Amino acid sequence: MLTRAWETVQFIYTVARLANRRRRQPEQLFAYQRGQLRKLLRFALENSPFYRRRFRHIDPDSCPLERLPITNKQEIMEHFDEVVTDRRIRLADVEAFASDPANLGRLFLDRYVICHTSGSQGRPIFIVQEQKDIQLAFALQLARGHPLEKRWKTLFRRFGRPARWASFYVKPGFYPSSVVFTYMPRAVHRFAQTLRLSLQDSLEKNVQQLNEFQPNFLTGYASVLEALAREQLAGRLRLRESGQLQMLTNMSEPLTPQARELIEGAFGVHVSDHYAMGECMTLTVGCPYHQGAHVNVDLAILEVVDDRYRPVPPGTKGSRVLVTCLHNYVMPFIRYEIGDVITMNPQRCPCGSNLPHVAAIEGRTKDRFWIRRNDHYEEFSPFIFLEVMYRCFDVAEFQFIQTDWTRFDLRIAPVPGRQLNVAEIQRRLQAALCEAQLHPLIQVNIIPVDEIRPDPVSGKMKRMQTLLAPPPGVASASP
Ligand SMILES: [Zn+2]
Repeated sequence: MLTRAWETVQFIYTVARLANRRRRQPEQLFAYQRGQLRKLLRFALENSPFYRRRFRHIDPDSCPLERLPITNKQEIMEHFDEVVTDRRIRLADVEAFASDPANLGRLFLDRYVICHTSGSQGRPIFIVQEQKDIQLAFALQLARGHPLEKRWKTLFRRFGRPARWASFYVKPGFYPSSVVFTYMPRAVHRFAQTLRLSLQDSLEKNVQQLNEFQPNFLTGYASVLEALAREQLAGRLRLRESGQLQMLTNMSEPLTPQARELIEGAFGVHVSDHYAMGECMTLTVGCPYHQGAHVNVDLAILEVVDDRYRPVPPGTKGSRVLVTCLHNYVMPFIRYEIGDVITMNPQRCPCGSNLPHVAAIEGRTKDRFWIRRNDHYEEFSPFIFLEVMYRCFDVAEFQFIQTDWTRFDLRIAPVPGRQLNVAEIQRRLQAALCEAQLHPLIQVNIIPVDEIRPDPVSGKMKRMQTLLAPPPGVASASP
């Protein structure tokens, strides 16, 4: 009982600290950021053999950020055991831990939260962090991502009257979107009653649950929010009518202007656009009033760069980003490259926040997929495939290509030095399709290859691609 009360006090303290820090002037915020970076560099130099080697000519107390070497997913995974700062952590053990679903909700070595992601290129990356890092992500939502952020004290009136918060996830597993809720700090329940909705369930079932729950806040992927908007417009979903819904949050997928218009028009509330990744869950918080997101400069550093890693000025689209997470000390990410296309706002966000404003988030553009059931077409969520592939740790790269309304080719390339078990991958895909009752409708043809190269035009790896035009009568809200 006492522990719970103490956890709540700690959580409220974190929320208050984050809310107050946000109000500091930009120069104070960046001075704080530099201090945090120095601290992280000193710690990484002392405790991570990987960074010690890379930073051997660097003075952590004076070296400018731009002079620090850049790293990426392949490198971090190759040197995983030396990147982490706790010598007990071994990639082989982390992989084994994440391969057993029974471990979900447990702490690795009684201390660490494990998740794995795949990002835009290369093999999956395993991320080790502490519970406090997850707690920060939730505290940020309350302190900065909430329409009440300017009067955060009113949040505490929610004590005993928690907000209803519904959120979508792929299905239970060690992916960031699932892990973040599985390891949600208990204190959050004081502020929010939560409903988790699985993408494995039918749209109909999720609509029914949402109608019963009547959330104040709803978090989902852009494509899911779009599907829900169509349900709301068709009258099957009824979230607008009660006036309870206050905000929607998009995560993980780009939100096109057309999709935003459709969703905001259907629900009559703002869609906040969250931009973060498993490697740094606290990178930004979606602006609760306007488009885009605010960079949490006290917790992370976001550099927008061009193809040759030169900084691009705000207002100009970059071709990738470099992310430094300032609070994860067990697995430091310092100038870590991600292939997202970001444009910073040269001005302040109209909401008046002192935090830098990400004006546009692109990258990760996706095709939409339709399959034929009897004589009609229905949209198909690629998460069913992706969820399976992200658990195949021997797969370095994969690509699904829809060739017909019922057929997909799956090209897979192994992690160097590992063997692919094609029959096992086929079995897992089949099981996932069966679970979603799609097995009679979809066939997957697996083609093992040595390597899959990014698209020569965009330079991006398209994990899911369709060769088909949208079916007749489909008005596409996404490009
Ligand atoms: Zn704003």
